[in-house]
Amino acid sequence: MLYSSEQIHVEAHRLYGLLACVSKARESKWTLADCEQIAPYTLEINRIKKEKNAVILAHSYTTPDLVYGVADFRGDSFQLAQQARQTQADVIVFAGVWFMAETAKILNPSKKVVIPAGRAGCTLADSMTAQDVQNLRAQYPGVPALCYINSSAEVKAQCDACVTSGNVFDIAQKMPGNRLIFVPDLLMAQNIEIELKRRGSTKEIIACGGSCCVHDKYRPEDVEKLRADHPGIIVLAHPECAPEVCRLCDYVGSTKGMADYVACSSAKQFGLLTELGLVNRLEAEHPDKTFIWPFGVCSYMKKNNLLNTLQALVSPRPDQLVEVEEELSLAAKKSIEKMFELSK
Ligand code: SF4
Repeated sequence: MLYSSEQIHVEAHRLYGLLACVSKARESKWTLADCEQIAPYTLEINRIKKEKNAVILAHSYTTPDLVYGVADFRGDSFQLAQQARQTQADVIVFAGVWFMAETAKILNPSKKVVIPAGRAGCTLADSMTAQDVQNLRAQYPGVPALCYINSSAEVKAQCDACVTSGNVFDIAQKMPGNRLIFVPDLLMAQNIEIELKRRGSTKEIIACGGSCCVHDKYRPEDVEKLRADHPGIIVLAHPECAPEVCRLCDYVGSTKGMADYVACSSAKQFGLLTELGLVNRLEAEHPDKTFIWPFGVCSYMKKNNLLNTLQALVSPRPDQLVEVEEELSLAAKKSIEKMFELSK
């Protein structure tokens, strides 16, 4: 990895142009010196990426050096699944957590898929097994089952369709019958029931699973404090937050939904009840707006970094190589493809 000082200087300025408005820690922003430090790595990753015809997909919750330094596409689970479905690359490097890389592999069984963070978990995906879904389906025969995309291939394979936070309400509404099984996010299940009621549907949601360890921490007092400290602030939340939090917010939606809301709003100050990575993306993309973030970091997403991305690209460890057994992959793919069909 030998680059001239001129190449590093040019790369550092490219990075600084993207990251200058982004928070590095609570009180400090990315500096040119920070960008000079990471420049040799971004240069090398971008060089090898071309050599191997690889594409890097980075979830918005990973760090800004990945998102803006080396990623070809950045976004939420749904956007990245769409990109994984369309890519012509030979290798997919998925900077995210395991279930996301697994989804990319299911959509591209013949491609090499690697994940820098190795088997990075997710409290939602890890809260439910295939057997749990089978038990529910046996208990409620004939009731359709949806799973949030934050679930394992085994769980997806047991469900009729999967959903993301961007399409969950519309797909839940489209499902037949008066009852619906939803796994594995208990808080999102409550939000679905409330939203469907608002839309005039009385569908009962039968839920099982856990919660997101980032979004389940927010409390109504966090919204109240944002409003008291910053009069006129617009508060946005993710539907993985508790309903009593969501009901106090101005907008509740997916990562993409929140980004679109900010882009279309004339407001200048936003409170964000979501993961730090999205806050950093909005800082980078809307330098004229201010974002107040109480707390919330996903330690699983932050396991991805430039070093392990370079290593996964050059010579992946066994735990960074994503493989899904064929029969399971085909069954899980049905549920993912059903989502694409229902979200049209
Ligand atoms: S933020 Fe929550 S839902 Fe997303 S990967 Fe982390 S633990 Fe899972």
